[in-house]
Parts: sequence; C-alpha cells; structure tokens
Amino acid sequence: MSERENRQVNISIDLAAIRYNLKRARELSVGAKIFSVIKADAYGHGALRILPALADSDAFAVANVSEGLAIRNAGQDKPVLVLQGFHSTQQLRDCGRAGLWPVIHHREQLNMFDGVKLTAPLAGCWVKVDSGMGRLGFKPAEIPQICTHVRQLGVPVLGMLTHYASADRVADISTDRQLRVFRKTSHAGVDRSASNSAAILTRRDSDFEWVRPGLMLYGADPREYHPGMSDNEDAALQPAMRVTAPVIAVRELKRGDRVGYGGTYECKENTRVAIVGAGYGDGYPRAVSPGTCVMLGNRRVPIIGRVSMDSMSVDISALSVSPPLDYPVTLWGHDSLRVDEIADRVSTIAYELLCSIRGKRSWHDPAAGINVRALK
Ligand SMILES: *Cc1c(COP(=O)(O)O)cnc(C)c1O
Repeated sequence: MSERENRQVNISIDLAAIRYNLKRARELSVGAKIFSVIKADAYGHGALRILPALADSDAFAVANVSEGLAIRNAGQDKPVLVLQGFHSTQQLRDCGRAGLWPVIHHREQLNMFDGVKLTAPLAGCWVKVDSGMGRLGFKPAEIPQICTHVRQLGVPVLGMLTHYASADRVADISTDRQLRVFRKTSHAGVDRSASNSAAILTRRDSDFEWVRPGLMLYGADPREYHPGMSDNEDAALQPAMRVTAPVIAVRELKRGDRVGYGGTYECKENTRVAIVGAGYGDGYPRAVSPGTCVMLGNRRVPIIGRVSMDSMSVDISALSVSPPLDYPVTLWGHDSLRVDEIADRVSTIAYELLCSIRGKRSWHDPAAGINVRALK
C-alpha cells in the first residue's frame, strides 16, 4: 500500500478546469506561445496525468532534468524547457539525448562541454538574464559574450528569458525596472520570455514571443490576495483541485467546553461540532487563523481550536441538519472557498498549499465523461 492510498483525504483534479485555464492564458497573452509550467508534479496536480488537458500548449517547462525525462518517457514530444538547466555532465548528456531545452544561467554549465561527448547534440538552449530577481541568470553585461560562447559550442540559442520577483504585486515598480533591463538586453533574432501567471494577468507589455503560466493553469490567482477581490480583479479562472475529507464524528459540546490541543477554543454556548478527518499530517496547515472555514455542502463553517495531525473540529451549530458520518467536507477548491483564501489565512501562497497537500488523487474530465480513479 502506497503512502497516498492509506489517507482519507481526497484530492480531486478537474482536467476540464485546467483546459479552460490554459485557454484563458491564451486569450490574455494574445499571439504569444505558451510554455505550460508543470514543475513540482504540476504544482501537486500530477504532471503526467494532466498532460492531456494541456495538449494545446506549445511547449512545457519543468524545473529539473529528471522532470523533463519523466515527461519524455511518458511519450510527450513537444519542446520541454528545463528552467534550472543541467548541473552535471550526466544531465547535460540527458538533455541532448531526450531533446530537452536547458536554460543556461551559469558559466560552469559551459565548462561542462569540455571533454564530454554527447551522443546527441543539444537541440537548443535558452539563456537566462538576471534582470533584478537575483536568483538564476547572467547579469545583462555578460549576455553578449555568453551567447557567443554558447554558439561556438555548436548550441543554438533559441531564446532569452527572465523572471520577475514581484509581478504578483501589481503596483510594484520593480517589474517595470526588470522589464526595461530585459528589453535592453535581449536582442533581435531570438525569442523572448518574461511573463509568469501574474504578469500574464496584469501586464500586456510583457508578453513577448513566449509566456510561462504556472499557477493560473491550476485555477489559483497569483496576485496578492485580499478578501473580496473586486470583479475586475477576478481572473475568471476555475480551481482545478478540490480537497475533501470525511466527517468522522458529530458531537454536542456544552457552553464552557474546550476544543482541541491547548484548549485554545472555549464554546461560548452549546455547540454542535463535526470532527473532520484531515490535519497537518495531510499537509493542511496547522497555523490557520481562527475563523478559517471549510465547506459542508454550500455552507461555510469555521474551524475551531487547533488543527491536529489527522483531524480538525468545525462548528456546525448553524446548520439545521447534521451531516452523516463519512460526509465529504471541502477544505478548498470550491468557488466560495478558494485555496487563495486559505493561503492568506496562514500568510503563505496558494503555491505552497497545492504542493503540500497529500491524499488520494483522482482525475476527472467532466467534458469527456471520463472518471479516472486514483492510481498507485
Ligand atoms: C515557476 C516558474 C514560472 C511559473 O510561475 P507562476 O507564477 O506559477 O505562473 C515561470 N518561470 C519560472 C522561471 C518559474 O520558475
């Protein structure tokens, strides 16, 4: 029995939502080609299982060479950009053999060509410009020399890319600064790519020839969350992941009773409580602030007391009927309870929650009428 199978949290992935979100990315970035970013197992959505929903992508982007090999082995033959490039000669060979497009971001990578006989030459690479993020990439002044060096190695420079540090904060001027640097650095004759999801949603001036949506494909909004985000901030994305856990008990507690570790919550009146079978052991954040909700049917009900390793308590006094045991409670992934809201409650980002949650995953395609049960 695998680690996932013996969990009672269910993670249901909606392939139609992913297909729709990709269409949104296309509409927004008119004319640009799309690298669908599927690193970290497609942000927890199962990279290999969601590929059919991303069939309209022009190419894919992964973080590392292993991820690239995995999608090649699954029969995917579109271009695959490896965002971190290779960092060993073995990985350089793998990039050649599997036809991956590595990102060149460090001089050491160029030294690795010395004395390595590639069974297949690199089909091409992308050169990374550090326009201000201060993570991977060459300083703008180094770029011309690096491109010349790469070409001398017989490797075509297919494009140049850069990555924004703060595109999620719409008014942050550092994005303008990075964009100016990138425009000046990149030159004619090669493709360019700068936009992540946040820039696709907010910056038409940054589309260039290629865009790199990740989070938005999964239906979460990368922009800084604030309660009641207005309509014109609504990206009209469809959440692709729904997380549910069963009701394992319903209890009547009395005024003054305390709930959970540390007794941090005291019932102000008689309270009907449902115990839900999910906790931080499943990757649900223990740090949720008081008032964070789950959904029972279409009703939001608040978590009370501390989240335990494999359970949490919710106040269901407001419901006229109690749920039966085993009733699925939604932890996120409902139109009225988005992962963005839960992330805000724990001062993190949707990315982290999507990647951290663990459970039995299943993939559904309502449009195609296919219901694929959990694997492994
Ligand atoms: C993860 C990543 C992306 C996608 O970012 P999102 O915010 O998820 O859209 C794009 N480019 C690079 C270099 C990345 O690391």
